[in-house]
Amino acid sequence: MNSNTLGTSRSVFVGPSKINGRGLFSRRAVPSGEIVGRLCGVILQEASKRTIQIARNRHLCSDYIDFVNHCCRPNAYVRVEGDSIVLNAIKNIGREDDEITIDYNCSEFSLAESFMCRCCSVPNRICGYQYLIENNQDEYLHRIARFVQPHIVQMSSELKKSLMIR
Ligand SMILES: [Zn+2]
Repeated sequence: MNSNTLGTSRSVFVGPSKINGRGLFSRRAVPSGEIVGRLCGVILQEASKRTIQIARNRHLCSDYIDFVNHCCRPNAYVRVEGDSIVLNAIKNIGREDDEITIDYNCSEFSLAESFMCRCCSVPNRICGYQYLIENNQDEYLHRIARFVQPHIVQMSSELKKSLMIR
């Protein structure tokens, strides 16, 4: 284990993914609403492919984040606790066979690299929360509203104001 992942809970592990390459899985069954695991790492000032935004200019970088795949209807979401990311189940997650997924639109205001989702028949472009606002994706925004972190909500309201002024 390198220092980057020290403190990451042993309740999760990396395995082959049906979505893309490798994915993150739970060692035990986790009922909806409970904590799946914790991801620790180092704090960066800018977003990268392996970060989750934990404050306006703070991004948690962890090797494990790379293995959490995106889903537009995920079974988990991330919550910030101090300098670590807590993965919370929003659906029942089975032991070892259900891949843990999050919505990357909730993980960063603006993703370092956008991509096309692999879960929908008409793939969505996943760029981060900012893109959803700029493109008036109201239905999507409504669906994920309760999983969005406070600093992203704050940055969004500033963006909405600037869009109205334009
Ligand atoms: Zn999708």
